[in-house]
Amino acid sequence: TSFETFGIDPEILKALKSLRYFNPTAVQEAVIPLALEKQDIIVESQTGSGKTVAFGIPICEQAVWEENKPQSLILVPTRELALQVKDDIMNIGRLKRIKVTAVFGKSSFKTQKSELKQKSHIVVGTPGRILEHLKEGTLVVDKVSSLVLDEADEMLNMGFIEQAEEIIDYLPKERQTMLFSATMSAQIDRLASFYMTPERASVK
Ligand code: AMP
Repeated sequence: TSFETFGIDPEILKALKSLRYFNPTAVQEAVIPLALEKQDIIVESQTGSGKTVAFGIPICEQAVWEENKPQSLILVPTRELALQVKDDIMNIGRLKRIKVTAVFGKSSFKTQKSELKQKSHIVVGTPGRILEHLKEGTLVVDKVSSLVLDEADEMLNMGFIEQAEEIIDYLPKERQTMLFSATMSAQIDRLASFYMTPERASVK
């Protein structure tokens, strides 16, 4: 299979070619069609499986350039991952001129605040700082229609569960939620059953 079969924007296909991604990985093949249908998805996948591109493509495909407010929110456990995910998504969405903002702790709140004031289609960040921006009103989420919980097991291990739940409570109920985790646990099942629709697809 090639990426053409997903019926995605030619500008995204072109970007994938220039990144030299010619064929989808197994996780991309499983996730992309479901994600494009706006389904909730739980994915058990390791780093290196191509999971970032698996959620990056549907998110970029769904992004409406004219809408200035964030349309997707991606929660990650660390600043390093936030920067890496931002980079990967910017590369996929480059020709669509998708704007991605990364926010994380121990970094200027003011700078992030002014970045968030600009057009930001996609926001990626660590739970603590995302929550601060929500409380300050510097991150507006009324147009968010998809949420990604990346490395959910790491977020749980790092004690981000309560912050993640608090963030989810700010989001519109009508949305897609995609959860990625290297390992599954009762805690992750609980989180999923609470915040995702039961018709979810599970991909391993
Ligand atoms: P990830 O699992 O998101 O950490 O991705 C692992 C690596 O695979 C990254 O360096 C990506 O650039 C690369 N990658 C993702 N999708 C593809 C693909 N379809 N073909 C080749 N490389 C890919």
